[in-house]
Amino acid sequence: MIIVLKHGSGEAEIQQVVGRLEEEGFRVHLSQGVEKTLIGAIGDRSRLKALDLEAWPFVDKVVPILSPYKLVSREFHPADSVVRVGGHEIGGAAIHVMAGPCAVESRAQLLETAEAVKAAGATFLRGGAFKPRTSPYSFQGLEEEGLRYLAEARERTGLHVITEVVDVRDVPLVAAYADILQIGARNMQNFLLLKEVAKAGKPVMLKRGPAATLEEWLMAAEYILDGGNYQVIFCERGIRTFETYTRNTLDLSMVPALHALSHLPVIVDPSHGTGRWQLVAPMAKAALAAGADGLIVEVHPHPDKAVSDGKQSLTPENFAVMMRDLARLAPALERPFQGAAG
Ligand code: PEP
Ligand code: MN
Repeated sequence: MIIVLKHGSGEAEIQQVVGRLEEEGFRVHLSQGVEKTLIGAIGDRSRLKALDLEAWPFVDKVVPILSPYKLVSREFHPADSVVRVGGHEIGGAAIHVMAGPCAVESRAQLLETAEAVKAAGATFLRGGAFKPRTSPYSFQGLEEEGLRYLAEARERTGLHVITEVVDVRDVPLVAAYADILQIGARNMQNFLLLKEVAKAGKPVMLKRGPAATLEEWLMAAEYILDGGNYQVIFCERGIRTFETYTRNTLDLSMVPALHALSHLPVIVDPSHGTGRWQLVAPMAKAALAAGADGLIVEVHPHPDKAVSDGKQSLTPENFAVMMRDLARLAPALERPFQGAAG
């Protein structure tokens, strides 16, 4: 439910409503605009009826949130949410680029990639230490050793680290090293994992499941917010369709759709979204034009030798070219670009 207060309501009135709602066990979120004060309340509807808030003199109206997702919805929180990671704001004005290898393969490979993406203007380093692979015989990741290399790369470059957690048992370990926890596409509806990352005290990037509808994706995010963690970023990474030329079909319509339905930031992964490095830069540009708050891109110093996703990985040189192009595009979109124009 959204409780809209009458124009001119002050702090005392707001506190009166919030206090009563909290007494009744509601989860409350306040949005104070210049024109209106909105109080979002999630809880037992029958108790709200008993409060009869519409009869209160300074309450304008009580509006139900009709969607099945509540905390995630734009109605609940009309302003854009910003996810803050050490001085950076994802979902604010500036566009951020996260870049790095699919998998952390070795210390040398990671440090070389980190230096290169930093020089080209990335603000976050990506790299999987736990790899969810289609085949059990494929490389599964360096695990904690990989996390240590990510932390070392952060110290050397100042890049913040985003890395995937695939198992509830590893959440505390990964959270100890990562700045943002990545929930991979295959785990989007792993509800136990979602509940666990909600408790980790770190922002979470939630990738879209390969066959998930928008509503299923929003509901998955709702689990994390319901668990008390409002620091959630959506990541569109393509879905399974009949097309086989591309690895997935990158559904960029989700960017404006998510921005309309939710207050949370949205980033796009054109690497997994296409599976082909030649398509990454064009789709990155399209993603920003569609309103994405950032990108996550795979970069490898030697894509032909990569243990995973080499076909979709940019070389550091190609990444730098893409970043220069994005820096030129950003002013037209009226968004500051974090990347160095090189
Ligand atoms: C990845 O980011 O390397 C990854 C495994 O992505 P996804 O979960 O989107 O397949
Ligand atoms: Mn990958």
